[in-house]
Amino acid sequence: MSDVVGEKKVVSIEYVLRNAAGEELDRSQPDHPLLFLCGSHNIVPGLEKQLLGKAVGDEVDAVVPPEEGYGPKMKVKDLRFPRSSFPADAKLEKGVQFMTRTEKGPMPLWVKKVQGPTVICTPLHPLAGVELHFHVKILELRDATEEELQHGHAHGPGGHHPHDEEE
Ligand code: ZN
Repeated sequence: MSDVVGEKKVVSIEYVLRNAAGEELDRSQPDHPLLFLCGSHNIVPGLEKQLLGKAVGDEVDAVVPPEEGYGPKMKVKDLRFPRSSFPADAKLEKGVQFMTRTEKGPMPLWVKKVQGPTVICTPLHPLAGVELHFHVKILELRDATEEELQHGHAHGPGGHHPHDEEE
């Protein structure tokens, strides 16, 4: 069996993300590749799909529509929280992400702005509605460990630290 990106593989990549206009939105840090466990929704589905079957050293240009990325831009209600409900040292500025607990489990929210004692947040990902243009290079590939498969994510540098579990 050739070693290519597929289910139960831990994949290490470096990437640059741009929008359709070519503006850079994000990139992996030098010497800090992104690690993901294939088949466990660690990265946006449209990108994972286009990395399947690739090998170490391959470079991939992937265009991902919002539907396979961070979702369509929707009208959603902003949520308001008192400033006091955040940790005192929390950096609260536009685009900062945090998790809130709901009945359905943890949910990500993004700060829109701070208005006096109120923090206005949105559940809409900042990249919702954005066509994602990835340039990806595959650096490493290995089989996932049992523990990683149970957790649904990669461990080690660039992934989750095994002792950093939320559960
Ligand atoms: Zn874990």
